[in-house]
Amino acid sequence: MIQDRIYNSQMECMDPEVRRKLQGERLRATVALEYANVPLYRERMDKAGIKPEDIHSMDDLKYLPFTEKTDLRDEFPFGLLAAPKDQIVRIQGSSGTTGKPIVSGYTENDVEVWTEMVARSLSAAGCTQDDIVQVCYGYGLFTGGLGAHQGASRLGAMTVPMSSGNTQRQIMMMRDLGSTILCCTPSYATYLGETIREMGLVPGKDIKLKSGVFGAEPWSEEMRVRIEELLGIDAIDIYGLTEIAGPGVAFECIAKHGMHVNEDHVIAEIIDPKTGEQLPYGTPGELVFTTITKTGQPMLRYRTHDICTLYNDPCPCGRTTVRMGRITGRTDDMLIIRGVNVFPSQIESVLVGINGVAPHYMLVVDRVNSSDTLEVKVELTEEMFSSDTVSHIEGISRQISEQIKSVVGIAAKVSLVPPKSIPRSEGKAKRIIDNRKI
Ligand code: ADP
Ligand code: ZN
Repeated sequence: MIQDRIYNSQMECMDPEVRRKLQGERLRATVALEYANVPLYRERMDKAGIKPEDIHSMDDLKYLPFTEKTDLRDEFPFGLLAAPKDQIVRIQGSSGTTGKPIVSGYTENDVEVWTEMVARSLSAAGCTQDDIVQVCYGYGLFTGGLGAHQGASRLGAMTVPMSSGNTQRQIMMMRDLGSTILCCTPSYATYLGETIREMGLVPGKDIKLKSGVFGAEPWSEEMRVRIEELLGIDAIDIYGLTEIAGPGVAFECIAKHGMHVNEDHVIAEIIDPKTGEQLPYGTPGELVFTTITKTGQPMLRYRTHDICTLYNDPCPCGRTTVRMGRITGRTDDMLIIRGVNVFPSQIESVLVGINGVAPHYMLVVDRVNSSDTLEVKVELTEEMFSSDTVSHIEGISRQISEQIKSVVGIAAKVSLVPPKSIPRSEGKAKRIIDNRKI
């Protein structure tokens, strides 16, 4: 069993009442910064009749306007910066709703805040300077790779920036270096575990891993058990999103009973997604975050569209922060396929621009050998279907997959089906079949 080490006990184990006051102060400062420097927030607050002076404490949080992913898209790339551009030292990003990415600008302070949050997460997974941390999240605009890297480096661990892919080489390095902590998506951890077994390597003997910190996509308790058995480790959940910082916004301790939210840096709320009303702890709803220490691109009441429950009952680890349960779904139709955010509307935008197919489609998502697959089924037009130009049809299929690759960033299998073969629905069209068992 790994030893949970609390990285910053002053903040993580603070009296919740004292923390709430601190949050209120930091919230006030953030609201003032947004109002002064970000036109979108100033306009929204003016419209709602709120001035920064009206925000006194955490009790006033509920009066602030929400922020949506579409705001980041509309203000892309620099419209939401609260700091001058010359103070921004980093850009990270993720895929947006229309193929246009969303980005977040970080000041040096923000990189520091994020690094501290990941350091806390890795500490909870037992990481010290004696560890060898293998990072198999992608390095780049995606926050996974650099986030884990910074946190591991902060703890003085030997950090191995493998990035994603090339499974055989990952496993060789894991064996040769004797990596002790693994950072990647839970689905990739399963795949690594299965491949290690297939290669005849024995965890505990050839592979020295003791824990893994897994996130960026939803996973289940069953998946945890499977990963822990396959790799002989403790598997720990980590949550985050680019808009707020990246991984590390919340993380599990060894109690494996919900993820501790780094509440001195972010405020977590649960709201009713329909009315926007705040909901009490213990009630599931949509997760909303406000950053209270960021200066580059702070966010007020950012709607994650992730559904979960917050808990504030005491945790045996000694941390006093609220914990979030697993993400059980989303309020929008965003899919996460191999770690990439995919909206059906992106696929639709590709399909409507292609001659010979009708805008009737179905996305079938599955998980084969621990890796996500996407099949796009789309109807041919009557015209195309009755002309028997096979080469034409192959051309269409190729064109669709190339465009999906360039717009969405992932490979998809394209199946052209006869006209009227995709079921029509009277209400909201059902365009997604997700066969993954998370
Ligand atoms: P990231 O770099 O964290 O993947 P993105 O902004 O691309 O950042 O994606 C954020 C989304 O990923 C979250 O809103 C959530 O839906 C999902 N996500 C991240 N971590 C987890 C986790 N541990 N469990 C479930 N979903 C997660
Ligand atoms: Zn705990």
